[in-house]
Amino acid sequence: MLEKTGLPTPEDLARGSPSKERLSRGPVAIIECFQRIPCNPCYAACKRGAIKEFKDINDLPEIDFELCNGCAVCVSKCPGLAIFVVDQTYSEKEALVKIPYELLPLPKKGEMVDALNRQGETVGKAEVVSVLKFKDKTCVISIAVPKELLMDIRNIRVRRE
Ligand code: SF4
Ligand code: SF4
Repeated sequence: MLEKTGLPTPEDLARGSPSKERLSRGPVAIIECFQRIPCNPCYAACKRGAIKEFKDINDLPEIDFELCNGCAVCVSKCPGLAIFVVDQTYSEKEALVKIPYELLPLPKKGEMVDALNRQGETVGKAEVVSVLKFKDKTCVISIAVPKELLMDIRNIRVRRE
């Protein structure tokens, strides 16, 4: 499936997802990296040791959700744009999703953007809560999304007239 469509299967996603109980306790990273490739900046980026040491550079990353505090440092360092942070506790009705973003124009804080699923389909609207820019790394955009779409929204589209 992944090789043909670029999309992970539900089984792939289930393997890399935190439990409902962990999600209910606040921000946590989700790694959607499912192909064996020689890459490990995520491991080096995490100073909390939440991303387990690779035995082989081609290993798939594994995360200890108990050690992860959702800081999103790894989001900006992953060349595959494969790491997201989700926070189900953001507010009563909304969750926060931190996504890697490398397109222009960058959205602005407070702007409403299209919220996209993994297929690139618009599934709703999201409010941009923050835009973290780095000199040589990927931007991290935090968006507030309807709670029920927490595990679906993985990208945004910025509209400019
Ligand atoms: S979000 Fe922070 S604590 Fe969690 S895996 Fe990434 S770098 Fe480590
Ligand atoms: S840095 Fe990103 S692409 Fe590379 S192994 Fe880690 S999660 Fe996968």
